Amino acid sequence: MILQDFRPFIYFYKNIRFTSGMPELHRHYPLKKLNTFGVESHAECFARPENLKELISVLNEYNRENLPVLILGKGSNILFRRDIEGLVVHPAFAGIEKVKEQDSQVWVSVGAGENWDRWVAYATEKGWYGLENLSLIPGSVGSAPIQNIGAYGVEISDRFAWLDAYDPERKEVVRMNGEDCRFGYRTSVFKTGPAGRYIVTRVTFRLHTQPLLNLDYGNVRNEFTAGGGQTPADLRQLIISIRKRKLPDPAEFGNAGSFFKNPMVEKAIFNCIRTEFPDAPSYPVHDNQVKIPAAWLIEKAGWKGKRIGHVGTWPHQPLVVVNYGRATGQEILDFTEMIRADVNKRFGIELEREVRVV
Ligand SMILES: Cc1cc2nc3c(=O)[nH]c(=O)nc-3n(C[C@H](O)[C@H](O)[C@H](O)COP(=O)(O)OP(=O)(O)OC[C@H]3O[C@@H](n4cnc5c(N)ncnc54)[C@H](O)[C@@H]3O)c2cc1C
Repeated sequence: MILQDFRPFIYFYKNIRFTSGMPELHRHYPLKKLNTFGVESHAECFARPENLKELISVLNEYNRENLPVLILGKGSNILFRRDIEGLVVHPAFAGIEKVKEQDSQVWVSVGAGENWDRWVAYATEKGWYGLENLSLIPGSVGSAPIQNIGAYGVEISDRFAWLDAYDPERKEVVRMNGEDCRFGYRTSVFKTGPAGRYIVTRVTFRLHTQPLLNLDYGNVRNEFTAGGGQTPADLRQLIISIRKRKLPDPAEFGNAGSFFKNPMVEKAIFNCIRTEFPDAPSYPVHDNQVKIPAAWLIEKAGWKGKRIGHVGTWPHQPLVVVNYGRATGQEILDFTEMIRADVNKRFGIELEREVRVV
């Protein structure tokens, strides 16, 4: 059955199930609730496949029309500038399955559509440890490897075993280990290669059945000890409370977390900055490179708590750009471009976006 033949119907009926194995297809589908910036945008066509068969059917129909395809999780790392042309695929693959257990390690495979934080809560409860520091990060499990999510001293690559992804070009499912994914700081092959080349369907984690507490980041150890923390569940609760204290809740103030990455610069450049700002913060990366907090650069460029119309930086964390009301995606983008230009003018450093703009 060819989608083209049904076009006249599609404009009358929003939800149409084509054939068995084909998910419902929605035309002009609103994405406002599917992006944490909360901006208005519509997908020309939208599908929520629940399994591989449904994913393949919907992609096959679209290949006939040669339309662009965007994979969308929970929209917490994406900014829509306008309506989205072509097909938006929202993978809804569910399920959590223990694959094997060996020598106080456990391998667990999780469907791409599962909610990230609900999975972390479930793993902690089951006694599968190692993800507590990544608590309360918004998004779905399938999106987590895309930018190698990280927080409080842990990245998903530290707990990653392999993932399964559908490759529409070769029309096959590929299994990729950590090396294949080429994880780096907020990056992976999925960000550096052609966008949408792989659609992640499941992620398998290697976790620990004995508590494994990573308390080495910032003030985490002090707060953990001061609060009488002992268990991984306590660490999860601490991380949740720190995040709630520091970051705006997207349900209240639209945002996508850190808008920019922390830039890595040559030590020589950093030393120049230090002559003017002796207290400038940095973290060693390589022998001749350091990472500078983008929030510090943005603050020194005069953008902390600044607001233009409905867009502003979060007063407690200027790296987070907030939609204070009815901002459009373009307004948010323009605002961030002004920040980028000022940081560049002030420090000669080009900030790179962490958020994907489409
Ligand atoms: C308040 C807040 C705090 C945050 N804190 C952190 C943090 O501490 N650390 C951190 O790393 N990030 C953080 N983020 C960013 C974000 O939560 C993560 O990047 C998350 O993994 C994005 O998941 P998502 O499902 O919302 O992805 P989306 O925004 O929907 O998509 C992100 C990218 O992944 C691609 N993608 C999505 N699903 C798939 C799939 N199944 N297969 C292939 N590609 C796919 C999309 O095409 C897009 O390029 C934060 C965001 C917010 C709003």
